[in-house]
Amino acid sequence: MTLHEHTSDRRNLEWVNAALKRLTVDIHDRCVGSENNQAATTGFETQLEDNGWSTETRRFYAVDRQGGDARLEARDGTAFEVRASPYSPGCTATGRLKAVSTIEGLEKADAVGALLLLHGDVAREPLMPKNFPFFAVEDHQRIIAGLEGSGAAAIITTTAPGSVTAGGAYPAPMIEDGDFNMPSVYMTQKEGECLLRFNGRQLTLNSNCRRIQSKAANIVGRINEGAAKRIVIAAHIDAKKDVPGALDNGTGVATLLLLSSLLTDYAGDFCIELVALNGEDRYAVPGQLARVTANRGGFDTVALNINIDGVGYIDGDTAYSFFNLPDDMKELASARLLGTPGTVEGIQWPQGDHSSLFNQDVQPSP
Ligand SMILES: [Zn+2]
Repeated sequence: MTLHEHTSDRRNLEWVNAALKRLTVDIHDRCVGSENNQAATTGFETQLEDNGWSTETRRFYAVDRQGGDARLEARDGTAFEVRASPYSPGCTATGRLKAVSTIEGLEKADAVGALLLLHGDVAREPLMPKNFPFFAVEDHQRIIAGLEGSGAAAIITTTAPGSVTAGGAYPAPMIEDGDFNMPSVYMTQKEGECLLRFNGRQLTLNSNCRRIQSKAANIVGRINEGAAKRIVIAAHIDAKKDVPGALDNGTGVATLLLLSSLLTDYAGDFCIELVALNGEDRYAVPGQLARVTANRGGFDTVALNINIDGVGYIDGDTAYSFFNLPDDMKELASARLLGTPGTVEGIQWPQGDHSSLFNQDVQPSP
């Protein structure tokens, strides 16, 4: 390594560290629709412009949320530990507890005015959001229809520890959906077992969760705009509520910001697009939808899309996966990536911002 390379590597590292600190410590909560999320997208836009990129802001409506404290209590004073499902409406509801453990049981349940407890098989995994645009799970749609047709006053879910995605917090909500309008709360399986003993008895549920109508934006930066084909490099700038989202996906955005500095003098044949997407960690992926709408009819100009999410994990490798790549490109990319320490080939992950392009069947072109 030359002295010059060493110096620029060190400078790049300092630069990335500063960008990460801004995103994860100074801004911290980048949940879609929050003020801090807007600060993150505005900051991204400003930095790209400072580096000589032209930028475009695509705004869309988003829902933010507040509160999340909930209390479930039986008449004898027994209290159960529950949390409000994210984006659930709040409630004050008193009704008898009605427990169901299968879809068929849910569909047949007499649950008008009841507090409906979902446990066992019917609660084995989190539900895909009701209006998720890219695919639907038939059983999940049946459960949602069953809940909406039940007449229940509120829903309590209890999922098993194994149902949570690796690394996810437990207990996990079974419902995280701003398009589903019944109040719901969730609890651990153990707490659910205690609650089952109260089946048929009167309980009261209070939850202070609240939805707030808001806005968010995708930011697109471009260089060499006149080129016929574009290379798109994207990372989602949002994170889950109240977490710094360093790995998911502060490092991805910091990488885009570094690229905006390194590619300032780019003089190749492509238009380069750096895209801060907004809403990968949101129930109905509004950023992906806004992007699909903005690119309708124009996806064939994408020569290559690179989506960055979760790079730089300190306790493990960073995985890459290819989608629709021709063999020669695959070989070249594998050689480059496998030559980088800490990088391994991973499985093709079906969820994430790349899926909106995958679903458009974008094929790389020369
Ligand atoms: Zn992510």
